[in-house]
Amino acid sequence: MSEDDALYDRRREEMVRRQIEARGVRDSKVLAAMRKVPRHLFVSEALRHKAYEDYPLPIGEQQTISQPFIVAEMTQALDLTADDRVLEIGTGSGYQAAVLAEIAFRVYTIERIHNLYMRARRLFDELRYHNIVTRYSDGSLGWKEEGPFDAIMVTAGSPLVPEALVNQLTIGGRLVLPVGDQFAQELIKIVKSPTGVREQNLGGCRFVKLIGEQGWREG
Ligand code: SAM
Repeated sequence: MSEDDALYDRRREEMVRRQIEARGVRDSKVLAAMRKVPRHLFVSEALRHKAYEDYPLPIGEQQTISQPFIVAEMTQALDLTADDRVLEIGTGSGYQAAVLAEIAFRVYTIERIHNLYMRARRLFDELRYHNIVTRYSDGSLGWKEEGPFDAIMVTAGSPLVPEALVNQLTIGGRLVLPVGDQFAQELIKIVKSPTGVREQNLGGCRFVKLIGEQGWREG
C-alpha cells in the first residue's frame, strides 16, 4: 500500500466515525460500504485532499458529489438486502452508485449529462464494479425495461414524486428522493404496498435540480 493510500484510508475511517456514525447511521452494511469505497477517486485530482470532508464537492458540468452523510443516510433509508436490484437517478461522479453496489445485487444508474456518464462508466470499469449498469438518458422516467426495482434513489431535487418511478417499484419497494423547490427540498421515503403507498418525511436537504420530463424544465 502506498503512503497516499494509507492516508486516504485513515481519512475515510475518520469520515465514517465523525460524520456518519456520530450522526446516528447504524446500518452495518452502509457503514462497511462507506469504509470501503475510495471516495477520493470519484473527484478530480485537484479536490482529492477534500474528498473526505463534510460537504459536497463540484464534479464539473455545474453538478456535485453529495456530502458523505447524505449518501449514507439515503442509502440506509433504502433498507437494502444483498438480493436487491436498485435504480439510481443521477449517476454524477458515480460514488453513490458504488456505495449501493457494495450492498445490493445490481445497480442501474442513469445520467443525463454525457461527460459525467462517460467518466463514471470508465471509473466503474477501472474499479471493477461489474454489478453497475449505466444509461445515458432522462432518469425522471425511470428504466421501464429493467424494472420493477426493489429500491429507487433519486439524487437530484424534484418538484414532485415522478409517477413513473412509483410504477417501477416492486410491492415492498422503497423510493427515496428530495422533493421541493430548486433551493430546498424534503427527503421523502415512499414504500409501496399492495394497497397503495406510505410516505415518510426524513427531513430537509439541498440538491441540484432533477431536469427532465417528470422533473424541472431545463434552464
Ligand atoms: N449521485 C451522484 C454522485 O454520487 O456523485 C450525485 C449526483 S448530483 C447531486 C445530481 C446528478 O443528477 C447530476 O449529475 C445531474 O446531471 C443528474 N441529473 C439531473 N437530472 C437528471 C435526470 N432527469 N436524469 C438523469 N440524471 C439527472
